[in-house]
Amino acid sequence: MRTAVYSTHKFERDFLIRANDNKHDLLFLETRLTRSSTPLAQGCDAACVFAGDDANGEVLEQLHALGVRFLALRSAGFNHVDISRAQELGIAVARVPAYSPYAVAEHTVALMLALNRKLIRAHNRVMELNFSLDGLVGFDMNGKTVGIVGTGKIGEVVAKILHGFGCRLLAFDQAANQQLVDKYDVRFVDMRELCAESDIITLHVPLSESTRYIIDANAIAQMKPGVMLINTSRGGLVHTKAVIDALKSRRIGSFGMDVYEEEEGLFFEDHSDDILQDDTIARLMTFKNVLITSHQAFLTQTAITNIADTTVFNLDCFEQEVRSGNELVLPRQSQILNGSATRTLRHLCKGRKLQLTDRHY
Ligand code: NAD
Repeated sequence: MRTAVYSTHKFERDFLIRANDNKHDLLFLETRLTRSSTPLAQGCDAACVFAGDDANGEVLEQLHALGVRFLALRSAGFNHVDISRAQELGIAVARVPAYSPYAVAEHTVALMLALNRKLIRAHNRVMELNFSLDGLVGFDMNGKTVGIVGTGKIGEVVAKILHGFGCRLLAFDQAANQQLVDKYDVRFVDMRELCAESDIITLHVPLSESTRYIIDANAIAQMKPGVMLINTSRGGLVHTKAVIDALKSRRIGSFGMDVYEEEEGLFFEDHSDDILQDDTIARLMTFKNVLITSHQAFLTQTAITNIADTTVFNLDCFEQEVRSGNELVLPRQSQILNGSATRTLRHLCKGRKLQLTDRHY
């Protein structure tokens, strides 16, 4: 199946080629999917997109007019895709629901530790032969209260790691996870209590209408002065200007961000020869107690291998007209699995780590 792979990065290309094993005709494109780059999918049956691509309604209409009938997401999050428009147009959509919650959780804790122990500042000082420790005082993680907002796959691993550090854990989620209560003494509370009691707050809910700006001026006003805020989920969870005000007044003591609400067209790309146009991120970059990474929390070999394998599996399943279990929008002509289709799926799973499980039915 000819597939336009938008936003192909150097770090993932070889993984995709290996997973594909010459099955599909992959057209690697460095450019992002936007209104102006849709013509590049001419002659393709599928488009494969990354978290920074913009599959809005208009873009999907253009892809549909070109004959694209399948959108394979190389991400778990799908807030960059107009799902209802895809449904109306009859473009099937599948994602990679989980590739390594450990990758994202471990990066989350890396941001916490780096901010707390001021590692970037310390390293820069040492490089200048300044071996003074003044201004580098951190705190023991042991005994601190951490509020985890969203205890799904990633939030759960964060809880496990921080339990090992001896942190007291609070959580907010629409559905309490009893396992976390039993194993790690997590206490499920409402957002108000989580904000009021936490020394560190870390965000792991998806971006949706109900979670957009879950951290706004109001939520910040309820937080402990000097709180550490970490966002490795989606930029839109945080009202960035409210966070800047709180950093200026020191109500927020430090901020670690791997995602940014205006990251489209900025993150994942080399802009080192450009003039930075975004005044908000420019202001964030001036704080010594803000640590920014460019949406790299997922970036481990395990995660990239899993993303590539599942993406090719999703392409296989669409081509063979069988359910992958990863669909957000089913193909119009979706085949109900019968004996022969089940055999096809078993064949597709063969030789991969992917297992044929109940979710495929
Ligand atoms: P998940 O679906 O396993 O967990 C999400 C949790 O959020 C669930 O427990 C759900 O009940 C809860 N939730 C959803 N809406 C809620 C609401 N309105 N109020 C309270 N709780 C709500 O997802 P996951 O795999 O843990 O991933 C979480 C997020 O991490 C993704 O949506 C994505 O945005 C982000 N992510 C970031 C990166 C990165 O590289 N930075 C990589 C992967 C995922």
